[in-house]
Amino acid sequence: MTGRLFHYNTLGTLMKGGFDGSFSIGEVLKNGGIGIGTVDQLDGELVILNHQAYRFDVKGQIHEVRPEETTPYAAVIDFSSENETTLNEKISKDNLEEKLTNQFSSKNVFQAVKLHGTFQKIKCRSVQKQEKPYPDLVDVARDQAEFTAEDITGTLVGIYTPELFGTISASGFHLHFISDDHSFGGHILSFEINKPLIEWQTVDTVEQKFPTTDETFMKTDFDYGSVLADISEAE
Ligand SMILES: [Zn+2]
Repeated sequence: MTGRLFHYNTLGTLMKGGFDGSFSIGEVLKNGGIGIGTVDQLDGELVILNHQAYRFDVKGQIHEVRPEETTPYAAVIDFSSENETTLNEKISKDNLEEKLTNQFSSKNVFQAVKLHGTFQKIKCRSVQKQEKPYPDLVDVARDQAEFTAEDITGTLVGIYTPELFGTISASGFHLHFISDDHSFGGHILSFEINKPLIEWQTVDTVEQKFPTTDETFMKTDFDYGSVLADISEAE
């Protein structure tokens, strides 16, 4: 069995300041039970787990996201664990990504990943809500807020994107976190975890939905020249 990943809009357009929400969270949740993204006006980091949407704001506070709230960018999947492995050592984010990539059936397809466990250390970031005229996300990310937690139990959810698709999503791993007690989370920057059990699912279908109701998006002539470098810096 393989999975269908649903993308609302693209990370590339988000990078170029496409921050207006134009798709409801309720619709996002119909398309997947775990996922990542942001909300209208880039007001924090979106984490979807068990068909519930949460956002972590720039102060690190969690908010449940109501179905009528909107998003400019989200990636979700109805996750079903197809593969799992336990790494018998203490590893960092970079180590985990390298070891996991080696176990994937292919680097040339999307993979959805999930890991529940106790992290010895984890650092997450969130971003400041933006007002128009919107800046590029790479400039917002230079002022991102970073938060660190120790000995915290929670769930990592995310997407591995093949290099070829590095403008619609972040090439490599894009991971978000939510603690079991809902006290901590956001876009993951780094972590250390001992002997984690990791689950993943290979994606054989991607549905790309475009923000056709967003007049600004439809009419803007975006300059995507720096988008790969911007994604690499900010994500
Ligand atoms: Zn993120």
